[in-house]
Amino acid sequence: MERPRIGIFKYSCCAGCQFQLIYFQEHLLETFGAVDIVYGRMETSAGSEEGPFDVVLIEGAITESKQADQLKAVRGRSKYLVPIGSCAVNGGIPAIKNLTPELEVEQRVYSRIEPIHSVRAHPADEYVRVDAYLRGCPVGETDLIELVTALLLGTRPRMIDYCVCVECKRRGNTCILVAEGAPCMGPVTNAGCGALCPSNHRSCYACWGPMPGANAPALARKFEAMGMPPDEIVRRFTEFGCPTLEFRKGAELYE
Ligand code: SF4
Ligand code: SF4
Ligand code: SF4
Repeated sequence: MERPRIGIFKYSCCAGCQFQLIYFQEHLLETFGAVDIVYGRMETSAGSEEGPFDVVLIEGAITESKQADQLKAVRGRSKYLVPIGSCAVNGGIPAIKNLTPELEVEQRVYSRIEPIHSVRAHPADEYVRVDAYLRGCPVGETDLIELVTALLLGTRPRMIDYCVCVECKRRGNTCILVAEGAPCMGPVTNAGCGALCPSNHRSCYACWGPMPGANAPALARKFEAMGMPPDEIVRRFTEFGCPTLEFRKGAELYE
């Protein structure tokens, strides 16, 4: 069997997910040793973005029309396309700028904005069909191994699709939402981080995005019963500026 050809394309983000891939490569030779990363500016100096690819991994949010154009072209050159990390999956941190007037953020950061053709930050699936999501900020190791293994076996990957509370309970944590009234988003957030924040006595703020079928209205009503003001409830569910359909259902009750 030929080794699958992987291409990695970066758009607007901190590149933390690619750093994570490089870190995983050093520790998971048995997984990465079975694939060829044929394009990826941070992973290899060889290769070309022309492909063709078996799998393209997309990192970062789409914030420029030329990025959208390239993404569509890359989709046509790859059998599978998978957004990696919250920026590509949900808009993530770059999408916070969607909460301010267009170009206001750019004006704060750059001395000249004339060369910038920045638009709102969007996830990859607003432009192209995607085949799976590799969630996390940065991406999670368990899902990555599952993705690569499924690719090698020709099976459908079974990604983590339950909430942070499951991992929190596995770690034996006392629930800070129930016991202390902390505004934890764990019940609606996709797991994979190992319940990092609640395990350190901090509320989850949903950086991995919603789990499939998240019951955001129920959690929003719980926050209301705890005395949280409506604008704070809305902020909890729209924090990353590109709220998903699931989280919009929590926010729109209080807008
Ligand atoms: S998902 Fe998080 S770690 Fe990954 S590129 Fe975006 S901000 Fe960075
Ligand atoms: S602390 Fe948060 S993540 Fe943990 S069980 Fe409670 S609500 Fe869920
Ligand atoms: S607990 Fe929530 S906010 Fe913290 S890393 Fe996990 S998903 Fe992100």
